[in-house]
Amino acid sequence: MAIATFRFHGELADFLARERRSIEFDHSCARAATVKHAVESLGVPHTEVGRLLVNGGPATLSRIVREGDAIEVFPPATECAAGDEAPHFVADAHLGGLARFLRMLGFDTLYANTITDREILELAARERRIVLTRDRELLKCREMMRGCFVHAKKPEAQLREIAGRYGLERYMRPFTLCLHCNLPLEAIERNAVRERVPGRIAERYAQFAHCRGCQRIYWEGSHWARMREMLDACLFPRDPVGPGQ
Ligand SMILES: [Zn+2]
Repeated sequence: MAIATFRFHGELADFLARERRSIEFDHSCARAATVKHAVESLGVPHTEVGRLLVNGGPATLSRIVREGDAIEVFPPATECAAGDEAPHFVADAHLGGLARFLRMLGFDTLYANTITDREILELAARERRIVLTRDRELLKCREMMRGCFVHAKKPEAQLREIAGRYGLERYMRPFTLCLHCNLPLEAIERNAVRERVPGRIAERYAQFAHCRGCQRIYWEGSHWARMREMLDACLFPRDPVGPGQ
């Protein structure tokens, strides 16, 4: 056994028992336990660990905990995807609202309300997807490479959280994916959709897109503008009370 002191910063407090939040506390670690093992035994999935300090110096999760170590754990800073490629996601079954928002912004997000933990892990490994979930046990799985615990409960706040953590703003391509199938939308001539949309729509709009998966037709109508407003409000909320007001 090695007794070390731990302190968790920021939103990591959410994972801890109430009496351990925002304070330094002692914890007995199993012999030769790594920091990863100790942190997870305290309830914090390894995917949620950003910077790590042991006795004031930078350390990694694989460090062995020694008697008297002072361990400080910080939440992840904004993570950048490799190169200029936008991140790809797989969302857990309880995150349908968030998955839809991410697709609206053009982020490839696999989602099915029947998806199992095993399928999520396999998809994440095979297609290098980031797992989004509110299930911390799933994030503690050994096979979990890149995962993200979604703290918020409402989809709007969840989107803000994910946008912040993965710097999504620079990769956004709104309305380029089918909201139902996650497939890329393709431009289609007005003449080709005349038979498939109401007549007034065909007259009023010049630009159309369709999904090869479900054959849905999309156009920049009023629902499009409403979605855009809603996304803007999610991502760039105004202060409820501005300075000097
Ligand atoms: Zn579709």
